[in-house]
Amino acid sequence: MSDRSRIEWTEATWNPVTGCDRVSAGCDNCYALALAKRLKAMGTEKYQQDGDPRTSGPGFAVTIHPGSLDQPRRWRTPRTVFVNSMSDLFHAKVPTSFVRDVFDVMADTPQHTYQVLTKRPLRAARIADQLRWPPNVWLGVSIEHMDVARRADHLRQIPAIVRFLSCEPLLGPLDELDLTEMDWVIAGGESGVNYRPVDIRWVRGIRDACVIAGVPFFFKQWGGRSPKSLGRHLDGETWDQMPSQ
Ligand code: SF4
Repeated sequence: MSDRSRIEWTEATWNPVTGCDRVSAGCDNCYALALAKRLKAMGTEKYQQDGDPRTSGPGFAVTIHPGSLDQPRRWRTPRTVFVNSMSDLFHAKVPTSFVRDVFDVMADTPQHTYQVLTKRPLRAARIADQLRWPPNVWLGVSIEHMDVARRADHLRQIPAIVRFLSCEPLLGPLDELDLTEMDWVIAGGESGVNYRPVDIRWVRGIRDACVIAGVPFFFKQWGGRSPKSLGRHLDGETWDQMPSQ
Protein backbone atom coordinates (compact mmCIF):
# COMPACT_ATOMS: atom_id res chain seq x y z
CA MET A 1 0.00 0.00 0.00
CA SER A 2 1.26 3.51 -0.72
CA ASP A 3 2.60 5.46 2.23
CA ARG A 4 1.16 8.64 0.69
CA SER A 5 -2.08 9.50 2.44
CA ARG A 6 -5.38 10.71 1.02
CA ILE A 7 -6.41 12.02 4.43
CA GLU A 8 -6.83 15.82 4.13
CA TRP A 9 -4.85 16.88 7.19
CA THR A 10 -1.85 14.61 6.84
CA GLU A 11 0.72 13.62 4.16
CA ALA A 12 1.70 10.01 4.82
CA THR A 13 0.57 7.01 6.82
CA TRP A 14 2.69 4.60 8.82
CA ASN A 15 1.21 1.36 10.13
CA PRO A 16 3.60 -0.49 12.46
CA VAL A 17 0.41 -2.02 13.95
CA THR A 18 -2.69 -3.15 12.06
CA GLY A 19 -6.05 -4.37 13.33
CA CYS A 20 -8.34 -3.23 16.09
CA ASP A 21 -11.64 -3.79 17.92
CA ARG A 22 -14.63 -1.46 17.99
CA VAL A 23 -14.95 0.50 21.25
CA SER A 24 -17.62 3.17 20.74
CA ALA A 25 -20.28 4.46 18.35
CA GLY A 26 -17.67 6.21 16.23
CA CYS A 27 -16.31 2.78 15.26
CA ASP A 28 -19.60 1.48 13.80
CA ASN A 29 -18.57 2.16 10.20
CA CYS A 30 -14.80 1.87 10.72
CA TYR A 31 -13.18 2.37 7.30
CA ALA A 32 -10.06 0.45 8.39
CA LEU A 33 -12.09 -2.63 9.30
CA ALA A 34 -13.76 -2.65 5.87
CA LEU A 35 -10.46 -1.98 4.08
CA ALA A 36 -8.68 -4.80 5.95
CA LYS A 37 -11.23 -7.28 4.62
CA ARG A 38 -10.43 -6.20 1.05
CA LEU A 39 -6.67 -6.24 1.68
CA LYS A 40 -6.91 -9.75 3.10
CA ALA A 41 -8.76 -10.92 -0.02
CA MET A 42 -6.01 -9.34 -2.16
CA GLY A 43 -3.42 -11.34 -0.22
CA THR A 44 -1.74 -8.32 1.41
CA GLU A 45 0.69 -9.75 3.94
CA LYS A 46 -0.13 -7.45 6.87
CA TYR A 47 -3.84 -8.33 6.78
CA GLN A 48 -4.04 -12.12 7.01
CA GLN A 49 -5.00 -12.52 10.71
CA ASP A 50 -8.71 -12.41 11.51
CA GLY A 51 -10.07 -10.53 14.51
CA ASP A 52 -12.99 -11.44 16.77
CA PRO A 53 -16.08 -11.27 14.54
CA ARG A 54 -18.07 -9.56 17.32
CA THR A 55 -15.78 -6.53 17.48
CA SER A 56 -13.35 -6.84 14.58
CA GLY A 57 -13.30 -8.78 11.31
CA PRO A 58 -11.34 -10.54 8.57
CA GLY A 59 -7.74 -9.41 8.32
CA PHE A 60 -8.22 -7.05 11.27
CA ALA A 61 -6.72 -8.87 14.25
CA VAL A 62 -4.33 -6.65 16.22
CA THR A 63 -0.92 -7.48 14.75
CA ILE A 64 2.41 -5.78 15.31
CA HIS A 65 4.83 -5.37 12.41
CA PRO A 66 8.40 -4.94 13.68
CA GLY A 67 9.56 -4.89 10.05
CA SER A 68 7.68 -1.61 9.50
CA LEU A 69 9.28 0.18 12.44
CA ASP A 70 12.16 1.70 10.48
CA GLN A 71 10.10 2.98 7.54
CA PRO A 72 10.16 6.68 8.62
CA ARG A 73 13.93 6.58 9.00
CA ARG A 74 14.13 5.98 5.24
CA TRP A 75 11.98 9.00 4.29
CA ARG A 76 14.42 11.77 3.49
CA THR A 77 11.95 14.61 2.99
CA PRO A 78 10.07 15.76 6.09
CA ARG A 79 6.50 14.52 6.22
CA THR A 80 3.44 14.83 8.37
CA VAL A 81 2.68 11.23 9.26
CA PHE A 82 -0.59 9.75 10.47
CA VAL A 83 0.45 6.88 12.74
CA ASN A 84 -1.64 3.71 12.57
CA SER A 85 -4.40 4.73 10.21
CA MET A 86 -5.29 1.00 10.29
CA SER A 87 -5.24 0.46 14.06
CA ASP A 88 -5.10 2.10 17.48
CA LEU A 89 -1.57 2.25 18.89
CA PHE A 90 -2.86 2.10 22.46
CA HIS A 91 -5.01 -1.02 22.01
CA ALA A 92 -4.48 -3.32 25.03
CA LYS A 93 -3.05 -6.03 22.77
CA VAL A 94 -0.13 -3.88 21.62
CA PRO A 95 2.75 -4.63 24.02
CA THR A 96 4.06 -1.61 25.90
CA SER A 97 7.56 -2.45 24.67
CA PHE A 98 6.33 -2.11 21.08
CA VAL A 99 4.56 1.19 21.79
CA ARG A 100 7.89 2.35 23.22
CA ASP A 101 9.69 1.24 20.03
CA VAL A 102 7.25 3.31 17.95
CA PHE A 103 7.82 6.36 20.15
CA ASP A 104 11.59 5.89 19.92
CA VAL A 105 11.42 5.98 16.12
CA MET A 106 9.34 9.17 16.27
CA ALA A 107 11.77 10.79 18.70
CA ASP A 108 14.73 9.77 16.54
CA THR A 109 13.26 11.30 13.36
CA PRO A 110 12.48 14.92 14.34
CA GLN A 111 12.32 15.93 10.67
CA HIS A 112 8.84 14.35 10.55
CA THR A 113 5.69 15.42 12.40
CA TYR A 114 3.64 12.52 13.76
CA GLN A 115 -0.08 12.54 14.46
CA VAL A 116 -1.18 9.73 16.77
CA LEU A 117 -4.94 9.42 17.17
CA THR A 118 -6.49 7.08 19.72
CA LYS A 119 -9.79 6.10 21.28
CA ARG A 120 -7.87 4.57 24.19
CA PRO A 121 -6.20 7.51 25.96
CA LEU A 122 -6.62 5.89 29.37
CA ARG A 123 -4.00 3.30 28.45
CA ALA A 124 -1.85 6.04 26.92
CA ALA A 125 -2.01 7.94 30.22
CA ARG A 126 -1.11 4.82 32.18
CA ILE A 127 2.09 4.17 30.19
CA ALA A 128 2.94 7.79 29.35
CA ASP A 129 5.85 7.90 31.79
CA GLN A 130 7.51 5.07 29.87
CA LEU A 131 7.44 6.96 26.57
CA ARG A 132 9.45 9.82 25.07
CA TRP A 133 7.34 12.89 24.23
CA PRO A 134 9.27 15.00 21.71
CA PRO A 135 7.63 18.11 20.17
CA ASN A 136 7.14 16.38 16.80
CA VAL A 137 4.62 13.92 18.28
CA TRP A 138 1.04 15.19 18.39
CA LEU A 139 -1.44 13.10 20.37
CA GLY A 140 -5.15 13.26 19.68
CA VAL A 141 -8.30 11.55 20.88
CA SER A 142 -11.50 10.89 18.97
CA ILE A 143 -14.59 12.48 20.49
CA GLU A 144 -17.59 11.78 18.33
CA HIS A 145 -20.20 12.25 21.05
CA MET A 146 -20.39 13.69 24.59
CA ASP A 147 -20.65 10.06 25.84
CA VAL A 148 -16.89 9.75 25.29
CA ALA A 149 -15.85 13.28 26.28
CA ARG A 150 -13.87 11.85 29.20
CA ARG A 151 -11.21 10.95 26.63
CA ALA A 152 -10.20 14.62 26.67
CA ASP A 153 -9.63 14.39 30.44
CA HIS A 154 -7.30 11.42 29.93
CA LEU A 155 -5.51 13.31 27.16
CA ARG A 156 -4.89 16.23 29.53
CA GLN A 157 -2.98 13.86 31.84
CA ILE A 158 -0.48 13.01 29.09
CA PRO A 159 2.60 15.21 28.56
CA ALA A 160 2.21 15.52 24.77
CA ILE A 161 3.46 18.89 23.49
CA VAL A 162 0.56 19.12 21.01
CA ARG A 163 -2.83 17.71 22.04
CA PHE A 164 -5.76 17.55 19.63
CA LEU A 165 -9.35 16.39 19.36
CA SER A 166 -10.81 14.63 16.33
CA CYS A 167 -14.57 15.11 16.39
CA GLU A 168 -15.27 12.78 13.51
CA PRO A 169 -17.58 11.20 12.64
CA LEU A 170 -19.53 13.80 14.54
CA LEU A 171 -22.59 12.06 15.98
CA GLY A 172 -24.07 14.62 18.34
CA PRO A 173 -23.69 18.10 19.85
CA LEU A 174 -20.49 18.70 21.83
CA ASP A 175 -21.64 21.89 23.51
CA GLU A 176 -20.24 20.91 26.93
CA LEU A 177 -16.82 19.91 25.60
CA ASP A 178 -13.90 21.27 27.64
CA LEU A 179 -11.18 22.62 25.31
CA THR A 180 -8.73 23.43 28.10
CA GLU A 181 -5.14 22.59 27.10
CA MET A 182 -6.19 21.57 23.59
CA ASP A 183 -4.04 22.82 20.68
CA TRP A 184 -6.20 21.80 17.74
CA VAL A 185 -9.70 20.52 16.93
CA ILE A 186 -10.71 18.66 13.77
CA ALA A 187 -14.38 18.02 12.98
CA GLY A 188 -16.11 16.17 10.17
CA GLY A 189 -19.17 14.25 9.13
CA GLU A 190 -19.24 10.57 8.32
CA SER A 191 -18.87 9.21 4.79
CA GLY A 192 -19.75 5.90 3.16
CA VAL A 193 -22.97 4.12 2.22
CA ASN A 194 -24.14 3.91 5.83
CA TYR A 195 -23.16 7.47 6.78
CA ARG A 196 -24.96 9.14 9.68
CA PRO A 197 -25.75 12.75 8.68
CA VAL A 198 -24.18 15.54 10.68
CA ASP A 199 -26.26 18.48 11.95
CA ILE A 200 -24.88 21.92 11.01
CA ARG A 201 -25.62 23.17 14.52
CA TRP A 202 -23.19 20.61 15.98
CA VAL A 203 -20.41 21.83 13.65
CA ARG A 204 -21.15 25.49 14.29
CA GLY A 205 -21.11 24.79 18.02
CA ILE A 206 -17.59 23.34 17.89
CA ARG A 207 -16.32 26.07 15.58
CA ASP A 208 -17.71 28.81 17.82
CA ALA A 209 -16.26 27.17 20.94
CA CYS A 210 -12.85 27.01 19.24
CA VAL A 211 -13.02 30.66 18.16
CA ILE A 212 -13.91 31.73 21.71
CA ALA A 213 -11.16 29.56 23.25
CA GLY A 214 -8.56 30.54 20.61
CA VAL A 215 -8.07 26.91 19.54
CA PRO A 216 -7.26 26.29 15.82
CA PHE A 217 -10.16 24.59 14.03
CA PHE A 218 -10.06 22.35 10.96
CA PHE A 219 -13.33 21.37 9.27
CA LYS A 220 -12.64 18.32 7.16
CA GLN A 221 -15.89 17.52 5.39
CA TRP A 222 -19.67 17.28 5.68
CA GLY A 223 -19.50 13.60 4.67
CA GLY A 224 -22.12 11.75 2.66
CA ARG A 225 -21.89 8.76 0.37
CA SER A 226 -18.34 9.78 -0.52
CA PRO A 227 -16.01 12.02 1.51
CA LYS A 228 -16.33 14.87 -0.99
CA SER A 229 -20.07 14.51 -1.72
CA LEU A 230 -21.17 17.55 0.25
CA GLY A 231 -17.96 19.58 0.28
CA ARG A 232 -16.34 21.25 3.25
CA HIS A 233 -17.57 24.83 3.38
CA LEU A 234 -19.06 26.00 6.64
CA ASP A 235 -21.12 29.18 6.40
CA GLY A 236 -19.27 30.04 3.19
CA GLU A 237 -15.77 29.51 4.57
CA THR A 238 -13.20 26.74 4.70
CA TRP A 239 -11.54 26.11 8.04
CA ASP A 240 -7.98 24.85 7.63
CA GLN A 241 -6.37 26.11 10.80
CA MET A 242 -3.45 24.12 12.19
CA PRO A 243 -1.73 24.14 15.59
CA SER A 244 0.96 26.75 16.11
CA GLN A 245 4.18 25.14 17.32
S1 SF4 B 1 -10.69 2.55 17.32
FE1 SF4 B 1 -10.39 3.31 15.22
S2 SF4 B 1 -9.41 1.62 14.10
FE2 SF4 B 1 -10.27 0.78 16.00
S3 SF4 B 1 -12.30 -0.01 15.38
FE3 SF4 B 1 -12.56 2.09 16.18
S4 SF4 B 1 -12.49 3.41 14.35
FE4 SF4 B 1 -11.61 1.41 13.78
